[in-house]
Amino acid sequence: MVVVMRPGAAPEQVDAVVARVEAAGGSAFVSRGVQRTIVGLVGDIEAFHALNLRAMPGVGEVVRVSKPYKLVSRENHPEATTVEVAGVPIGPDTFTLIAGPCAVETPDQTLQAALMAKSAGATLMRGGAFKPRTSPYAFQGLGEKGLRILAEVRQETGLPVVTEVVDAADVALVAEWADMLQVGSRNMQNFALLQAVGSAGKPVMLKRGLSSTYEEWLMAAEYIAQRGNLDIVLCERGIRTYEKGTRFTLDIAAVPMAHSLSHLPVVVDPSHSGGKRDLVIPLSRAAIAAGADAIIVDVHPDPTAALCDGPQALYGDDLAALAKTCRDLPPMVGKKLVEQ
Ligand code: PEP
Ligand code: MN
Repeated sequence: MVVVMRPGAAPEQVDAVVARVEAAGGSAFVSRGVQRTIVGLVGDIEAFHALNLRAMPGVGEVVRVSKPYKLVSRENHPEATTVEVAGVPIGPDTFTLIAGPCAVETPDQTLQAALMAKSAGATLMRGGAFKPRTSPYAFQGLGEKGLRILAEVRQETGLPVVTEVVDAADVALVAEWADMLQVGSRNMQNFALLQAVGSAGKPVMLKRGLSSTYEEWLMAAEYIAQRGNLDIVLCERGIRTYEKGTRFTLDIAAVPMAHSLSHLPVVVDPSHSGGKRDLVIPLSRAAIAAGADAIIVDVHPDPTAALCDGPQALYGDDLAALAKTCRDLPPMVGKKLVEQ
């Protein structure tokens, strides 16, 4: 951390900054320039924040040099992390296909969607039992009944389950049934939920908030990590921009950016970002080319009857193209599809 004094700051003002830092157990190194004096601080940065140095007389700015997220940052942990979900890896050397219905609607629909996912080469299935819906009148998911259906379908297909939890009070219940807990875009800064999934003992997929910066996203991951859970994958799912032609704007740069800022794996959701079936394969290709460690894709046996997000769900006929994309492209970026 560096304290930049205002031009012409008095020597006593510089001394006061040094004294406050030293009193808090830190070290301060003063560098006097012609125009300005800067003070470099060494020690516990979080403790320095509490010193309120920015408010001291003569101080111009306080600049943080290291990242505010520590546990999830690449600077403190240069090696890329592989997260295992019931034995299925998501990490730097592999590419993982996660697919399934947006929402669990019926046992048959969920099973059919999971079989579609499997035929496309998926090794993990998705499916929401608790749905975060913009409208309170829209289908909210089957709740616990949906979790039981997911468990039955896992039994039948062998595919481990990724499913969303929307409320801290439900984390223990969802963790009982799920192999990976999903925190959705709208809940990315629900700090109580982040802490609860951080203590739940299951891997977590953290979707990027639809208007969140990289730093806010990684600080949200830090909340989970701070509770002792480093089995986190980051999911880029599109951000809100002025463009209305797509549901959200897939921020493809988020993949290499998140990889450079963090050691955690990065997943892309081409379904919720584009919001249109025809975009899913092109966006999946872009995601793989950008280095995504996995994609998470909506499929449905009858998208016209889907209770949630039908327009973005792939039909059975689309699966061959999805499977080919997932097989052919990852080797071009040094990755190998995780096989069933
Ligand atoms: C989902 O994956 O079902 C979902 C609701 O996604 P998001 O939180 O990204 O909107
Ligand atoms: Mn959805």
